[in-house]
Amino acid sequence: MENVSGNVPYACLFLAVFLGLIGTVHGLYCKRDCHPPKCSCPQYNYPMNREDIPQMVYFGFDDAVNVMVSALYDRIFTENRTNPNGCPAKMTLFVSHKYTDYRRVKNFHENGHEIGVHSVTHSVIGNENLLRQEAKKQKDILMSRAGIPEKDIVGWRSPFLKPASVNQPKILKELGYEYDITYTYTRTHMSSPKPWPFTLDSGWPFRCATRPCARTRVKGFWTVPVEGLMDFKDLYPCTYVDGCVIGASNEKEAYKYLMDNFMSYYNTTRSPFGLNMHAAWFYRSFNLDAMLRFLDDIGKMDNVYIVTVKQMLDWMKYPTPLANISSLKSWNCHYKEPTEVPTTTTTTEKVINVTKLDERRNNPMWFILRRLF
Ligand SMILES: [Zn+2]
Repeated sequence: MENVSGNVPYACLFLAVFLGLIGTVHGLYCKRDCHPPKCSCPQYNYPMNREDIPQMVYFGFDDAVNVMVSALYDRIFTENRTNPNGCPAKMTLFVSHKYTDYRRVKNFHENGHEIGVHSVTHSVIGNENLLRQEAKKQKDILMSRAGIPEKDIVGWRSPFLKPASVNQPKILKELGYEYDITYTYTRTHMSSPKPWPFTLDSGWPFRCATRPCARTRVKGFWTVPVEGLMDFKDLYPCTYVDGCVIGASNEKEAYKYLMDNFMSYYNTTRSPFGLNMHAAWFYRSFNLDAMLRFLDDIGKMDNVYIVTVKQMLDWMKYPTPLANISSLKSWNCHYKEPTEVPTTTTTTEKVINVTKLDERRNNPMWFILRRLF
C-alpha cells in the first residue's frame, strides 16, 4: 500500500505531463517568438483589455457578382452605414467567374470593398495542380477585367469550403495570397470558444471538419477560421449564415439569430464576428429586413466596426486599442483614384453576358427583385 500511495504523485505528474502534451498537440501550441505583424498565435483570448478591443464584424460574401446580388449589397452598404470613426462599413466579396459582371466588381472595389478569389469554375478543387490553376487564373481575370491591382487581391476561399490538399496554404502563399478563409471551425453552442485569426507558423491546431486539413506550417500566412454561427435556437451550427438546418421563419427569429450570435462574441472575448454567406439568404425578404435592423442596432454601438477581412487582419498585424484607432491607417476613410475601364470586349464576355441575361429571364427571383428594388 505504502508503495502504491507513494507512487500517486508521480502517476499524477505523469498524467499531467501526458495531458499537457495532448493539449500542446491538439491545443493552441505557438512558438515563443511569434509576434505580430509577421506572426500571430492561434488563441481564444486576445492579450488586450476587452474594453480596448474593437468588436470587428466582417462580411464574406461568396460567388458570382451579378445584377441581383449587387442590388442587395447596395441596400446594405449605403453611404450612411458608417463605423464609429465616420468611415463607411465595408465587406469582402469572394468572386467566382461564371456569371460575374466585372464592371460591378470594379465598382465595389472602387468603393472600398475588398475583392477576394473564389475560383474560376466553382467546382470541387481536389488536387494541387487544379488549385494552382484556379487560384492564379481567377486572380488574373480580376486584374484584367475589373482592373484591380494585384496587391489588393490577397484572400482566397475554396468552393464548398473544401481544401484542395494539406499544402493549400503553402501554394496560396506562393501565388501571392496573404490569407485563406476556407478552414472551418465548428462551435457546438453559442458559448463555445471562438478562435481569433492566426498565422500558420505552427500549423492548424483545431479539429478539421472538412479534410484535408492544413497540416503544413506556413510562415506568416494568415488563416481566418470560418466559424459557424449557431441557429436561433442554439441547437445546431450553421457554417454559412444561410446554411442552418433550422432556419428562421420570420424577421423576429432571423434578427434573434444574428443578434444572439453577435452578442456571444461581444459579451465574451470580442474575437472578430464573421458573417460568411451567400446573398441568396436575402431572397426571403424577412432575412434582409432582419439584417438591416441588426446592422442599424450594432451601428449605434461606439466600439463596433464593420470592416473587410483585409482590414480585420491589419488590426491583427497592428493591434490597436480603440482609443488610438485613428492611427490604424487602413481603417481610415480614403478614396481611390478611379482606374480605367477595360475597353476590349472579348467573345467570352459577350457569351457570358448573353448567358446572364438568359439566366435572369429564367430566374423567378429576378422578377421579385425587380419589384423590390
Ligand atoms: Zn461558392
